[in-house]
Amino acid sequence: MKLEKNKNLKDYNTLGLNVNAGFFASPATVGELRQLLMDKPFLKGNILVTGSGSNILYAGDYDGLVLHPQMKDISITNLDGGYVYVRAGAGVDWDDFVEWCVSRGWGGVENLSGIPGCVGASPVQNIGAYGTEAGDVIHEVELVMIDDATEKRLKGEECRFGYRDSIFKNNLKQATVITYVTFRLSLHPVPNRSYADVAAKLADNSNPSIGDVRNAILEIREAKLPDPKEIGNAGSFFKNPVVPVSVADRIVREYPDLKPYPAGEGMVKIPAGWLIEKCGFKGKREGNVGVHHKQALVLLAYEGASGKELLDWAQKIKRSVKDRFDIDIFPEVNIIASS
Ligand SMILES: Cc1cc2nc3c(=O)[nH]c(=O)nc-3n(C[C@H](O)[C@H](O)[C@H](O)COP(=O)(O)OP(=O)(O)OC[C@H]3O[C@@H](n4cnc5c(N)ncnc54)[C@H](O)[C@@H]3O)c2cc1C
Repeated sequence: MKLEKNKNLKDYNTLGLNVNAGFFASPATVGELRQLLMDKPFLKGNILVTGSGSNILYAGDYDGLVLHPQMKDISITNLDGGYVYVRAGAGVDWDDFVEWCVSRGWGGVENLSGIPGCVGASPVQNIGAYGTEAGDVIHEVELVMIDDATEKRLKGEECRFGYRDSIFKNNLKQATVITYVTFRLSLHPVPNRSYADVAAKLADNSNPSIGDVRNAILEIREAKLPDPKEIGNAGSFFKNPVVPVSVADRIVREYPDLKPYPAGEGMVKIPAGWLIEKCGFKGKREGNVGVHHKQALVLLAYEGASGKELLDWAQKIKRSVKDRFDIDIFPEVNIIASS
């Protein structure tokens, strides 16, 4: 395995930011990864693990080691009580994995069709879309600890999955390299059409398959989200804020079009995109940065944008939302400080 120096990361982050990593390595096996961590102890203090970089904003150059796991195999580890257990390498493209499962009729990840990124990142922020979260079907996560190169396994319930959250964003933040994820998929799936957009798309189909759900979701996503190959973006930039019902009621009195979603006892989730749109940012551009014209939650990085410009832009949007609605919004994107 090559340890590259001064690697340009423009093709390794979907915002397309032109930044460099001090070192870069793509271990293809757990053995290669552990060897690297044992041989190069000087790198350990400063390691960033990345898949496709579709949820990362580099504030500037990263002087440490960027690790890009490339375990690419998929295997079936068990069949039990109507479920199949599928183990996929961290470097497998997420949507290729979804297609692989759906084509075999195995259900559980079809609503996560079309999300950019790699399998290894799916537990980190517990990726979610259209009424499903990866944590619902993650059976086990295999990892290597960065500090001592030991191997560990965490059961799904030990990963503390929450809304765009997990142990990998908290206690184990930047402490592990996820190498494999095992998913528990249904052999007799019941398609989940709970999301209004999906139900509408499949309105003429009384008995859709999970393949139909996947196709519907791919079409919906294509129609409303910008393709990072055409314009730099990292999907939803901010998380949807969860606020007390009383706060949402106050806003609804002024803006009856707001549709909050239930989020546990006495709390509701407010679409951050709605808040940003009401502050007038939808479709706006300032210099090399902007906000998508169809989805205000997606910040755009035009050619030549820097991490600093994007961070300033995000800060401006956050301040505006705070001033107008007295609500704090926080990034979903991982911001990597330059080192
Ligand atoms: C157009 C677009 C649409 C999107 N839509 C959605 C959506 O619908 N739902 C959703 O949840 N997300 C969405 N995202 C965000 C993104 O696709 C997910 O967060 C995805 O899981 C990131 O995968 P990645 O491989 O690019 O991870 P990266 O961006 O490379 O990394 C993300 C985080 O995971 C860590 N990480 C990555 N790989 C590993 C590993 N092997 N071991 C340990 N840590 C690791 C990184 O250090 C970082 O903290 C979207 C992004 C884009 C650009």
